[in-house]
Amino acid sequence: MIPHDELTHILYQLGEEDQPHQVVSPPIYLTSNFSFRTIADFRQAIADERHHPIYSRGGNPTVRLLERKLAALQGTEDAICFGSGSAAIAAAVLSCVKAGDHVITVRNVYSWTWKLLAETLNRFGVSVSQVDGENGEDVKAALNDRTTLLIVESPTSLDFRLQDLRSLISWAKSKRLMVVCDNSFGSPLNRKPVQFGADLICHSATKFVGGHSDVVAGVACGSHELIRRIFYEGYMTFGATLQAEQAWLLIRSLRTIMQRMDSAVEHSEKVVRYLKSHPLVESVNWIFDNEHPQRELVKAQFDYKISMFSFRLKTTSEKSLIQFCESLRLIRLGVSWGGYESLLLPALVFSSTPHPVNHFRLYIGLESAESLVEDLRLALESMND
Ligand SMILES: *Cc1c(COP(=O)(O)O)cnc(C)c1O
Repeated sequence: MIPHDELTHILYQLGEEDQPHQVVSPPIYLTSNFSFRTIADFRQAIADERHHPIYSRGGNPTVRLLERKLAALQGTEDAICFGSGSAAIAAAVLSCVKAGDHVITVRNVYSWTWKLLAETLNRFGVSVSQVDGENGEDVKAALNDRTTLLIVESPTSLDFRLQDLRSLISWAKSKRLMVVCDNSFGSPLNRKPVQFGADLICHSATKFVGGHSDVVAGVACGSHELIRRIFYEGYMTFGATLQAEQAWLLIRSLRTIMQRMDSAVEHSEKVVRYLKSHPLVESVNWIFDNEHPQRELVKAQFDYKISMFSFRLKTTSEKSLIQFCESLRLIRLGVSWGGYESLLLPALVFSSTPHPVNHFRLYIGLESAESLVEDLRLALESMND
């Protein structure tokens, strides 16, 4: 866990000590280009573009400030920001594989990560195996002499199953595999997969970091060497750059991440308690529940709770389930999470899903717990009409 005084330093001070005019909000460097007074400076920048901005597709001081804060939060030497979480994951994966390699990934990884592996990279001769990764045995069985990379994401979305990151990653490292961890659910505040030995830690910064549903962004965190490799491969070549204004919004959002996550968790506790007691609810799966079957893993992985869970209603009547969804007035129907607004993602919107029709993911935002409970109460009641 990051001590609170260190968090305060990272979120409110780090990289901001010497701002002109002692501003309390950092400048947004709206410039595509940088110029040089001397040939020596210009040469130095070209020799190490990662640390000396030349052109804003490569580096921008506002983006750099955000990267320093995210690296400090994740406990890695460096971090590199992208225009989306998917861009960060794609660049991280591309930096680890070549034609002929084999990748092992946990089942139900983020859908576009799966598409990258199974479709895009597959066309370039990279093969992939999917495993549950919950007991470690299936991962070991999937290993072959071409395996170079393990991708983990714990818990996986919609079903909230966790992998034992510590034992899985230490096994992968003993086999000299690279390990990429999608830590979006952990948030940069909440879990440091680098402690378990993960090489590259990616986030959709769109979610908890952004926190207001107004920015799409991503980050990859890791050693100086790996981030440098990503910089000259998947970053500069594909150009999925984060813009300075967006980086500034994320720096602004980080100021309140502790308080936002705390409030949303407090509200979740009340909503979970309400749903668990409701006769029309079959089950609620919040990984932070004291009775959760994987609670030991949860304790070992998460420093703080997160405000997202799944639940199932008793009915499987599509008409009643749609009635429930469409009766909600405060909670919105939608993908994504991490913003101020609570969001319900019903499994029944997907044409192909491993989850039954009565399965829902609910992200709890910043609205009052009483309003959220009342919204759910009325929507559940409407199913009887
Ligand atoms: C949203 C999400 C992503 C993709 O991030 P974008 O910012 O939307 O590109 C990747 N992994 C997880 C777990 C996500 O929830």
